[in-house]
Order: sequence, then C-alpha cells, then structure tokens
Amino acid sequence: MQSFWLRLSIPIAFVALFALLLWGIFSATLALLFMLLALLLVMALHARQLYRLGQWLHDPRIETIPEAGGIWDEVFSRLYRMVKRHNQTKQELAAELQHIEQATAALPEGVAILNEVNRIEWCNPLAQQHFDLDSKRDFMQDITYLVRQPEFVEYIHESHPGESSSSEPLVMRPARHDGMVLSIKLIPYGENKRLMISRDITQLERIEAMRRDFVANVSHELRTPLTVVNGYVENLQDMPDLGQDSARRALQLMAEQTRRMENLVADLLTLSNLENDLSPLLEEAVDMGVLLNEIYQEGQSLSGKSHSLRLELPSDAKLLGNREELRSAFVNLLSNAIRYTPEGGTILLRWAERGEQLVFSVQDSGIGISPQHIPRLTERFYRVDRSRSRDTGGTGLGLAIVKHIAIRHQAKLEISSEAGKGSTFALVFSGKRAHTDTTLAP
Ligand code: ADP
Repeated sequence: MQSFWLRLSIPIAFVALFALLLWGIFSATLALLFMLLALLLVMALHARQLYRLGQWLHDPRIETIPEAGGIWDEVFSRLYRMVKRHNQTKQELAAELQHIEQATAALPEGVAILNEVNRIEWCNPLAQQHFDLDSKRDFMQDITYLVRQPEFVEYIHESHPGESSSSEPLVMRPARHDGMVLSIKLIPYGENKRLMISRDITQLERIEAMRRDFVANVSHELRTPLTVVNGYVENLQDMPDLGQDSARRALQLMAEQTRRMENLVADLLTLSNLENDLSPLLEEAVDMGVLLNEIYQEGQSLSGKSHSLRLELPSDAKLLGNREELRSAFVNLLSNAIRYTPEGGTILLRWAERGEQLVFSVQDSGIGISPQHIPRLTERFYRVDRSRSRDTGGTGLGLAIVKHIAIRHQAKLEISSEAGKGSTFALVFSGKRAHTDTTLAP
C-alpha cells in the first residue's frame, strides 16, 4: 500500500520540483502552465489505463489481460492473479461436480431432488429411467404432472416438505414399465427440499411371490393326503365293527397317502439341502458304466417289465461329479420316463460324447409335452397333468431337483418333446468334467 502511494506521488513530486525550478528561473505563469500540462498528461495516461480496464472487464479472460506500466502494472498483475485463482477454483469445482455426478450415476438407486412445490431440481440417470424423465426437458417440472399415478401423487402430497421421513416407502408399479416394481421414499433435507429415492425391487417382489406360492403349494400338497387319512381314521373310529376286508382296504389307502406325504417331504428336504448347501461339491470320478447299469436295473424293477428299456454306452468317459447327486438326477429322469410312457413303450438310457461335451440322456416314446409347458417344467410343483403326476406317485419336485443338481455341476438340462410322440431329457456336461483313465497315469 505504502509503495503504491510512493509510486503514485514520485512523478507528481518531480513535476512539482521541476515547476518550482521553472518558477525560480523564469516565471510563475510558466511554472503553472508546465504543472497543468504535466498533470493533464498524467490524467490522460490514467484515463487510458482505466479505459483498457473497462474494456477488458466486458470479457475478462486471462489471455487478454492488458499489459501496463507504472502503478497500473500492480493493479493488472493482481487482477491476473485473481482471475487465475478464480479459473483454478472453477476447474476444481467442475471436477468435483463431475465426481459427484459420476458417483450418483453409479448409485444403485434413483435419486431426484424436489423443491418445496415438488419441482424437479436435479435427478440421476436411474431416476430418469424409473420415472421416464428427461433431465433437461423436465428440469423444474412438477413431478406429479409427469408421473400421474394416483397413489404416487397422493404419496408426494401427503408427505410434506420439512417433516421427518417417518412414512413407509411407497411400493408402485410404474405405468410405463411393464412388470417393474419400485419402492419410493422421500427424505426431507435442507430448507423444504426432499430427496426422492427410488429402488427397483422387481426381483425381490418376484422372490417374495415365489416364496408365498411355494408355502401355499406345500400346504396344499400336504392337505390333500392328510384329509384323506383323516377321513379314514374318522370312519374307523365311527365304525368299530367294520369288516376285516374294509378295514384292510382303508389301511392300505391310508398307507398310500402316507407314502405320498413321505415322498413329498423327502423331495422337499433334498431340494432344501441342494439350495442351502454352499459348500464345494464333493467330487469323484464316477464310472458311468457302473452307475448307469445300477440305474438301469432299478428302472427295470420300477417299470415292472412293462416297457422296453435299453442302455447304450458309446462313451467310456468317467464323469467328475458328486455320485449321489448325479444318481438322484438320473433316477428322477428315468422314473419320469417310466411314469409318463404308457405300457409297451420304449425307453433309451444313453451316455455319449457330443463334440467336447458329455451327454446323459433319457429318451422315451411316452405321452410327450406340448411346447408351451416346456420352459416351466423345472418350476417347483409345475405339472402338465396333475392327476397323472399324483397317480404315479409324483411330487412335482423331480425336475426342480434335477435342475439344481445340473447347476451344481455346471451342466445344462435340455428338453425336447412332442405331445403324443415322446420326450428326450438330456443333461449336458462340459468336457472339463470328463475323466479318462489316462488322467490318472503318472
Ligand atoms: P412330477 O413329480 O409331477 O413328475 P417333475 O418335476 O418330475 O414332477 O415333472 C414335472 C412335470 O413334467 C410332470 O408333472 C410332467 O407333466 C412333465 N414330465 C416330466 N417328465 C416327463 C416325461 N418324460 N414325459 C412327459 N412329461 C413329463
């Protein structure tokens, strides 16, 4: 500051000194005239720099900052430093903003900022997707005009800005997204603003619906045999002198129903163990020739020789996998083939190689399946013909078990079938699961 005044006063002091000199040598008028001219010149120089500063302030860019001498040099260099600092801060803020935008874009939830009259001040890409918004077009638009579903409008109007977010989230199916389920929550913050958080809970809802269906299905499956058994028990109680034949018949039917429940519980346990077992699979090299021969024998006794059963083993590769689980999957497929093939039909069990892959297949000449049912066969309790499944002792869980075992062995279950002609169920294993004897050679 001091140097500023010093630098400003030095030229004036020189002019004044020179004017005094002129006064002493010549006259006061000449000295005054000189003084006047000199001051006018100083003023003109300052006015020029002021003009340049004014011009520059119209468009203050660092590259166009004027160069000047004298005291203006100090002013302009300070301005230069100020603009440079300002630009730097601007760049830092822009980078920060970009970071925040990237972070909010990566959020697994939709986020929108609503002001006190429900206008959208900002939203992240997921919120745009959930509510079909356009961040530019819909900026500062009232959200209740853009999303007009009554339950949503009511929810937005009911939770007032400034109140704490005690309300339960709204679960809504957006009209513009088929099948999507959103959970929406409003969180007040700042001065009368609200954060609207939306979460896609479609998958969760589906799992919850599956769980509800499953519980309902199990109860239903157990209730039918229980009702039958109960009916017979009551009959037996009400009629103590029932003939021996009738009593034997009733006990036989009760035993059938109990067996049905036993099968169901056994399958449920198998399924639950498969689903909950997160431990690594205990694997061994399974000799498929031996295993399939055992299963073939089991099939013969299950069919009671009423089908023509064949076993083909074009491959001698051993399969790396869990013997018990594989046996359970193969037996399930074979038992289905027997149960859904009328007497006299043919069933072929086969272990073969298809390129790099290994394929276990069961082909039958049975009742077959219409194409619309095929994608749903592995759902729990899905049956094409309920009564046929029950009459043959089915639980509706066999293929669900097979699918789980396939997944645990990274295998694929392929189903090809034609109603009235027969079906082929194949488990396709990756070639990596092949275990030839040479693998063991040292
Ligand atoms: P289920 O105990 O009812 O047999 P699964 O899960 O094993 O249950 O099979 C589901 C449904 O798939 C069966 O109810 C049946 O309608 C159909 N299905 C399975 N295997 C065959 C097959 N080999 N031939 C015709 N239909 C089959």
